Amino acid sequence: MLNQNYEPMQICTAKRALNLVFLGKAKLVETEGQDVISISARYPFPSVVRIDRYIRIPNRNVVLSRKNILKRDGHQCQYCGATGISLTIDHIVPKKQFGKDTWENLVTACITCNNKKGSRTPENANMKLFKKPKKPTRIHYLQKFIRRNNQSWKQYLYLD
Ligand SMILES: [Zn+2]
Repeated sequence: MLNQNYEPMQICTAKRALNLVFLGKAKLVETEGQDVISISARYPFPSVVRIDRYIRIPNRNVVLSRKNILKRDGHQCQYCGATGISLTIDHIVPKKQFGKDTWENLVTACITCNNKKGSRTPENANMKLFKKPKKPTRIHYLQKFIRRNNQSWKQYLYLD
């Protein structure tokens, strides 16, 4: 579901999306897959709808936690790419060098990489990060819900 300004808001069921369209509260933007068939009619399956009136969303920050850092990094070591093993949280700029507990300074690392890096910066340890860690946004959160049958969401989530 998109806000009136096309900003992605939330994920809802197809039924809810169609209801909003019928009530005149939203417009159908993208359809996908097979039509929805009722006793009396046939409707295109809603994939993306946009509401008619702008809704102000308070800035809901994602909480900085071990769980959310792992989630942001896809449970993957940001140095060697390992997955499915015990993971730790690494301070990019070590605490000893006054590195902070921030989204930008914390990454997922496997035990081997974390030990190898020790209390050095990646530059000093000659290790490279996959990507620059950022504070996750609502868009990142919604991107994780894309499945094979909702490819049309991508363009609204900046993935196309
Ligand atoms: Zn690693």
